[in-house]
Amino acid sequence: MTAQIAVIPGDGIGQEVTPAAVDVLKELDLGFEFVEGEAGDYVLEEAGTPLPEETADLARESDATLFGAAGETAADVILPLREIVGSYANVRPAKAYPGLEAVKPETDIVFIRENTQGVYSGIEEEIADGVATLTRVVTRDASRKIAEYGFDYAEEHGYENVTIAHKANVMRKTDGLFLETAEQVAQERGVDYETELMDALAMKLVMNPEDYDVIICPNLAGDVLSDLAAGLVGGLGLLPSANVGDDNALFEPVHGSAPDIAGQGVANPSAMILSAAMLLDHLDYDGEATRVTEAVETVLAEGPHTADLGGDASTEEFTAAVIDHL
Ligand code: ATP
Ligand code: MG
Repeated sequence: MTAQIAVIPGDGIGQEVTPAAVDVLKELDLGFEFVEGEAGDYVLEEAGTPLPEETADLARESDATLFGAAGETAADVILPLREIVGSYANVRPAKAYPGLEAVKPETDIVFIRENTQGVYSGIEEEIADGVATLTRVVTRDASRKIAEYGFDYAEEHGYENVTIAHKANVMRKTDGLFLETAEQVAQERGVDYETELMDALAMKLVMNPEDYDVIICPNLAGDVLSDLAAGLVGGLGLLPSANVGDDNALFEPVHGSAPDIAGQGVANPSAMILSAAMLLDHLDYDGEATRVTEAVETVLAEGPHTADLGGDASTEEFTAAVIDHL
């Protein structure tokens, strides 16, 4: 059975890097059906909403979605889309590539971030003038789900070290439950793991990122620590991400619409192409995922480079080089 892939380029450089990733996927000839959907600032003007019902339906009905970027309307586009795919896991690899400037060149970490709970549950209230509260929700089911995903991910990708990040010494009930549940999953499987307080982990990541492989995190900690690691490997420009649900998933670069360089054909498509590689991996095309990742790594190592990496290659030239290396 062939997979249907929703392709939502969105705004700014999303319009340039998304077709690049689709070209790479098409080169693999896997029989995917690509269906394009519209979303973002430019759609708001035409349709009165940045995420038309047809686009939402397209994402819902597809096997996976490739999403580029949205500008001002980002929150109104990407948050509903993540909900549509039922995303409970946000997967964010932070890997330093040979030949490129990185603060810590030996970094190769995958953050598995719980994506539905914690302080991002959205339960906030102004209970009196000048007093606001936030309710933090953690359930055993959601904690188990993210932990199982994290340990599965580590096993499938040959990563040895799994770290559970938490702050259970202070948030005893909520992070206590998260930690206890994740440890239980590891013990049931008989696999090794470590636990780290998230604040101490922030320091250790800066000093010794090479000590870590897969890090399973509550929502807020995952958000902050994965951005920290992005800084270690040279910024947001090269980083892919996945939002994974039970039977749907959305793949997007960590960067945004980059209005400062949009429309010039010079954006670096690496993050988007690597997101497409994560899509392949998710759909169990493991070999193809590795081929695409290695082709991007080769071009990053040997050139040609786009302007953000000091070169003068266009988005299309970079993509052609990746396709050549496939
Ligand atoms: P948005 O509001 O959509 O997030 P932004 O102005 O924050 O837009 P980002 O996309 O987050 O822009 O990018 C931040 C900086 O990194 C910009 O200067 C942008 O040009 C650069 N940048 C981001 N992605 C890329 C890319 N793929 N190739 C080259 N430069 C990039
Ligand atoms: Mg931004």
